[in-house]
Amino acid sequence: MQKGAIRVQTENIFPIIKKFLYSDHEIFIRELVSNAVDATQKLKTLASVGEFKGELGELAITVKLDKGKKTLTISDNGIGMTAEEVDKYINQVAFSGAEEFLDKYKGQNEGTNIIGHFGLGFYSSFMVSNVVEIITQSHKDAPAVRWECDGSPEYTLEETTREAGRGTDIIMHINEESEEFLDEHRIKTILEKFCKFLPVPVKYEDNQINNTHPAWTKKPSELTTEDYQNFYKELYPFSEPPLFWIHLNVDYPFNLTGILYFPKINKSYEIQKDKISLYSNQVFVTDEVKDIVPEFLMLLHGVIDSPDIPLNVSRSYLQGDPNVKKISSYITKKVADKLDEMFRNDRKGFEEKWESIGLFAKYGMMTDDKFREKGNKFLILEDVDASKFYTLDEYKQETAAIQTNKEEKQVILYATNPVQQDSYITAAKAKGYKVVKLDSLVDAAFLNQMETHWEKVQFTRVDADIADNLIDKDENTTHVLTEDQETRLKALFEKIPQQHVKVELKGLSAASQPVIVTRPEFMRRMKDMAAVGGSGMSWYANMPDEINMTVNANHPIYQQILKEGNDQLQEKQIRNLADLALLSQNLLTGADLTAFVTRSVELMGEKSN
Ligand code: ADP
Ligand code: MG
Repeated sequence: MQKGAIRVQTENIFPIIKKFLYSDHEIFIRELVSNAVDATQKLKTLASVGEFKGELGELAITVKLDKGKKTLTISDNGIGMTAEEVDKYINQVAFSGAEEFLDKYKGQNEGTNIIGHFGLGFYSSFMVSNVVEIITQSHKDAPAVRWECDGSPEYTLEETTREAGRGTDIIMHINEESEEFLDEHRIKTILEKFCKFLPVPVKYEDNQINNTHPAWTKKPSELTTEDYQNFYKELYPFSEPPLFWIHLNVDYPFNLTGILYFPKINKSYEIQKDKISLYSNQVFVTDEVKDIVPEFLMLLHGVIDSPDIPLNVSRSYLQGDPNVKKISSYITKKVADKLDEMFRNDRKGFEEKWESIGLFAKYGMMTDDKFREKGNKFLILEDVDASKFYTLDEYKQETAAIQTNKEEKQVILYATNPVQQDSYITAAKAKGYKVVKLDSLVDAAFLNQMETHWEKVQFTRVDADIADNLIDKDENTTHVLTEDQETRLKALFEKIPQQHVKVELKGLSAASQPVIVTRPEFMRRMKDMAAVGGSGMSWYANMPDEINMTVNANHPIYQQILKEGNDQLQEKQIRNLADLALLSQNLLTGADLTAFVTRSVELMGEKSN
C-alpha cells in the first residue's frame, strides 16, 4: 500500500474548500457526475479512433444511496484510472496561483467559482464527506486500485479488484452535517436539476433520470413543430404552448446551441424572467443568464448551451469575458432576423402575435441599436380601428400629405386608451388622420425614445389639442359670435375658478363639442412618466396639470345661453359645459365632481320650472 500526502502548493486545500463552499454544497453532485460523463465520453472517443478495442457495453452512470452505510456512490464504466493516473490527477492537485486568488476573493462567497478555477471538481466531494474512496479500473490492462482519504492531506492507495471491471466508483461517506444527502428525494431533485439533459444515461433508483438527446442538440432539419413543442413541455410542464421559437446553432467564433422560445404574453404582469437555463455540454450551469442574454430577451424561455462558458461561472467572470459579449450580440441578431423573417413570410400571423412580440420588439429597440435598425422594418403600429397595421414606412407614406407639420416633421397620432379618447379619435378621423394604438406598458418610454432615433417624426396623443391644431396650430379664430357676445362668453368662462386652465375661443364646426379639454403633449408625457417612476422625473409629478379648454364659439348652445336673462343660471350652465369636458378627460374628481353632480341636479330642476 502506498501512503502519501496530497501535494498542493498551499499547505492544505481542505480548509479552503470548507471555508469557501459553505453554501451551495449540492454542486458536488454535478462535479462528480460530470467527471463520470467525461470519463465515458473519453472512452467513446478512444473507441472511435481505434485506440480502445474492447467491448464498450452499455455505457451509463449510476447513482446509489446506501443509508445503512451512509454512503453515496457515483459509478461509471468509462476510461477508469491506473494507479499512476490516480497519483497524477487526484494526488497532484494543480493549485498554482492559489494565494493570489484567495487574496482577490477574500470575504466573498465565491466558493463555486474557486472549485472550477482550480479544477477542484473532484475535491468538492469533501464538502459533504468524512471519507472519500475511489475504486477504479483503467480501460488499459492494469490492476484496479483503491484510493482513500479522510479529508486530511494524507491518503492511501492500494491494489484491489473491481467486480464491475472497467470504470470508477466514487464512494462518499457522508458526514453528519450533510445527512440531507442521504435522502432519496433530495438526491433526486439535485440530479434532475443538474443532470436532466446529460449525454450519458444517468440511473438512479433503477430509473434513467435524463434525456440524453435533448432537442437543442439535434439539427433543426431533424425536428418537427411537435418536437419543439414537446421539448417546451419537458422544460415547463405547466406553461401554455409557446408562440414560436428560434434554434440557435453556431460553431464559430464560439460554440453555441440552444432553443429560445417566445412565450405567449397575455398580460404584461405575467412576464416571467429567469426562464432561460444555461448549460455547458448538456450540464446545467445556471438559471441566471443576465450577463449572457441581453436584458430585453430575458423574457424568452429555453436553453442555451455553450462549452465556451466554463461550468463554474461567476458574475464577475461573465462580465469580463469577450465570448460572452459575442454570444449576447449573436443572440440579439438571431432574434431580430427571426422576427424579420416571420414578418416577411407571414405578415398576418405576425400581426396576430404582435401583442406578445411587440413588447420584446419595443424593449429591444430601446436598448439595442443594432436591434433597432432591424426592428425599424418589422415594427408595426396598430390602427385604433382594429386589425389594420402599418409599418413605420407605411404610416409615413399614407399620412405624409396631411400629417406633416410646418417643421417638416411627420406627426404620428396615437391613443393610449381608445375607449376613453373616443371623441378625440372621432374628431381626428373626421379630418382624415390615422390614429394608432400605443397602449402597452413600454409605449410611453418607447415613443419618447424613438423621437430621438427616428428622423423627423413626432408623436402626438390624439387629445393633445383640438383636431384642428393636432398637426399645426390653426390661428384662425373667426366664429359667428358678435363682439359683444364674445366678450360676455369670455367673462363667463373666466368666472370658472379652475387654475392652470387656459381658455381659448375658436370657431369650430357647429357639430363639434361646445367645450374641448386637451392636455398638451409635452407636460402630459412628462407627468405620465413621472407617475410610473421615471428617474429624475419627480419634479414633473409635482407640477400642476396643464389643461387647455377650447370653447367652440360656433356651437348653437351659446346663442341660447347668452339669451338667458338669469346670470346665475348662465354661470351654472357654462360651468357645467366646462365640467362635462373635464369629465370626458377623466380630469374631474373629488369635490369638483361632487359639485358638478349637485349643480346638474339643480339645473334639471330649474329647467322644469
Ligand atoms: P477536472 O474535471 O476539471 O479535470 P476534477 O477534479 O473534477 O477536475 O478531476 C480531476 C481529474 O481526475 C480528471 O481530470 C480526471 O482525469 C480524473 N477523474 C476524476 N473522476 C474520474 C472518473 N470518474 N473517471 C476517470 N477519471 C476521473
Ligand atoms: Mg471535473
